Amino acid sequence: MISRDKSASLFETANQYFPGGVNSPVRAFRSVGGTPLFIEKGDGPYIWDADGNKFIDFCCSWGPLILGHNNPKVRKNIIGAVENGTSFGAPTVWENKLAETIISNHRYLEKIRFVSSGTEAAMSAIRLARGVTGRSKIIKFEGCYHGHVDALLVKAGSGLATLGTSTSAGVPEAYARETIVLPLNDRAAVEQAIEDYKDDIACVAIEPIPANNGLLIQDIEFLRFLREITKREGIILLFDEVISGFRVGFEGAAGLYDIQPDVLAFGKIIGGGMPVGAYASSAEIMAHVAPEGDVYQAGTLSGNPVAMAAGTAQLEACLEEGFYEELERKTKLLIDTILTHTKAKGYQFNMFHRGSVFWLAFSDKIAIRKSSEIDPDSMKYFTVLHKELLDRGVYIGPSGYEVGFVSAAHSDEDILASAEAFKAALDVAFSAE
Ligand SMILES: *Cc1c(COP(=O)(O)O)cnc(C)c1O
Repeated sequence: MISRDKSASLFETANQYFPGGVNSPVRAFRSVGGTPLFIEKGDGPYIWDADGNKFIDFCCSWGPLILGHNNPKVRKNIIGAVENGTSFGAPTVWENKLAETIISNHRYLEKIRFVSSGTEAAMSAIRLARGVTGRSKIIKFEGCYHGHVDALLVKAGSGLATLGTSTSAGVPEAYARETIVLPLNDRAAVEQAIEDYKDDIACVAIEPIPANNGLLIQDIEFLRFLREITKREGIILLFDEVISGFRVGFEGAAGLYDIQPDVLAFGKIIGGGMPVGAYASSAEIMAHVAPEGDVYQAGTLSGNPVAMAAGTAQLEACLEEGFYEELERKTKLLIDTILTHTKAKGYQFNMFHRGSVFWLAFSDKIAIRKSSEIDPDSMKYFTVLHKELLDRGVYIGPSGYEVGFVSAAHSDEDILASAEAFKAALDVAFSAE
């Protein structure tokens, strides 16, 4: 048994300072038991904890690190920017560079506004939708997470599902009432809600590839239907691509499925591991944003030059020929190697993926499209799996509702070694039956 004494002692200290010892809930290991590892450094596909244990990392900071840790090009841009100071509250050339990298390579975007997190991006996109339409209600889907925005913390995903509460305290009921929560992949429910509230609905918000409560891959026909009905009713269609953007392809899910939403929200990968979010749309819709228009939104550190420089280096690397094909090939290698074993053993287990996002389902269903189709009881297998993987040097996010990520830094050797660890860990998880 490897030692985690230093992490345990650091967590004891952290508990004196932070609620639950952490600065973001899912980090606390509550759903898998034990205490979190304190990470000392990362390089390529590896991380090392405070006790010197090395792990192959499939959490990748929950998605942002598509190039892996400490990528030389990202690091070089960060250091170059830092040498000139860290923040000015005035424009810098780095904002133009990141915007150009994005807009000239994304068929659906004309203008963008940089913010500092995915939450801020989703929150601002909702305000924009309300400002453009003059309506107040929004439709969101059960199992989709859009950050901790008041109006969107209504039966949200991952962290909350894991904690076993469906809404947050501190959200006024009046806000929650403006949000209509519908099951995913259900046309009739959307038709009914739009009929009921037609002239009040500003926005339909969806993760086009829901990845915060398992990986709930939607029928493309459902997404096309959302596009058609929102267009017909003058409702803004918001794709929250904070995970899927620059992940399943440079143009995210919108590009992959060839569906043009009205507004897109970004985060995670866009900042190269620094805190960045963005929302973007046509020039016409973005003209509603201050100072051009009357939808107010601002940020002291928005467009921060160090963060913009990091994002630029990362996104330039994503644009290299064959980048996404290679990521998906490695992801399939991981999944196929594991599934060959689990099928031979007859385990109730499956893995889903889109591009380099993958999810472990303790179920033999061939498709899971709604959060209600996940059996909470199956998470007992994940708890064992998680612990057994840590013991075998593989790090995944500490919740069975979370997805994993393959980065460009993972070699075939890393993937195959990890697959062996998964196989052995799953053998333990299923032997407890
Ligand atoms: C992570 C995430 C957010 C929130 O982003 P933060 O940077 O954590 O605020 C919003 N939407 C989706 C789809 C996400 O995955």
